[in-house]
Amino acid sequence: MAAPLGTLVFYSDFDDFGTWKDALQAQLPQLQVLPACAVERPEDVHYAMAWKPPAGFFQQMPNLRLIVNLGAGVDALVGRADLPAGVPITRITDPQMARMMAGYVLFAVLRHARDIPHFEQAQRRGEWAYRHPRSPQETSVAVLGLGQLGATAAHEVQRQGFRTLGWSRSPRQIDGVACFSGAETLDGVLGQADIVVLMLPLTPETHGLFDRARLQRLKPGAAFVNVARGALVDQGALTALLADGHIGSATLDVFAREPLPADDPLWAMPQVLVTPHLASVAIPSSSARQIAANILRVAAGEPPDNRIDPARGY
Ligand code: NDP
Repeated sequence: MAAPLGTLVFYSDFDDFGTWKDALQAQLPQLQVLPACAVERPEDVHYAMAWKPPAGFFQQMPNLRLIVNLGAGVDALVGRADLPAGVPITRITDPQMARMMAGYVLFAVLRHARDIPHFEQAQRRGEWAYRHPRSPQETSVAVLGLGQLGATAAHEVQRQGFRTLGWSRSPRQIDGVACFSGAETLDGVLGQADIVVLMLPLTPETHGLFDRARLQRLKPGAAFVNVARGALVDQGALTALLADGHIGSATLDVFAREPLPADDPLWAMPQVLVTPHLASVAIPSSSARQIAANILRVAAGEPPDNRIDPARGY
């Protein structure tokens, strides 16, 4: 029998403990997996897998060797005061998660490219509001952020025949995608796109990047899709630009405050689709293997994969 690996503590208000426990123990039967509320000996906890745990959570465990962020975005984790120094933080980068995200992005892009918000509104008025379709080649889509999720989405968008632009921090190459990098190229990319898709991590550099002035760089009538984080955008400015028609329509999965407050004007805007932060989620069956592999690496004294850089913020 394999030697015990110690204990992994699990915390998430959004994910099912039992499903994750079964998925992890299918990979590592010798790992004890406990929900945070069942941990009696915090000193025995070597691994933490968490999504938005309460403040002070990590301080209770003096022998942590690995923190697994239960998701792709680590903005809620980096910068926390209770992170133990020197303990590596990893995130989930799962092809199935990327596929789920690409599906959402493709849905949003096609919805805007085919003027579906216009037809939805016309239907509510009982109106046959013909608008001649454009071919995909006539529509430019900019995917901002070309990481694990963004690159997959950009690939899927270009496969549909859209003129696809991509933007990242460092130079990237994706077949069929015109890639740009660096802050100085952003406004040029925005000015060319009929549909802008935000897929950037929230970091000190990207926080508030889409302020009023930058949103005004979008082509008049462009569609705006945010599946990244609400704090990238000045939501008040976005709302005002949607109201005055400069931004034609939007698909928003993330918001400055979540849940989006009941009195927020975005709810009632017919040209806006609001979804409750679910464009993609961590999938236990497909990501347990990489988490297990990282636990084994750390147990053997090796560095884990998919490590994030807290200084960079992603
Ligand atoms: P990655 O960390 O793999 O990639 C991030 C990309 O953004 C990289 O291309 C990176 O550039 C680029 N980037 C980062 N900072 C800058 C900057 N200052 N200027 C220009 N480009 C920058 O992230 P993922 O693709 O895995 O995920 C993206 C985000 O999606 C997550 O951070 C999370 O916030 C969000 N998300 C949302 C979900 C939802 O359900 N709505 C679900 C999962 C994730 P470079 O290539 O040079 O490093």
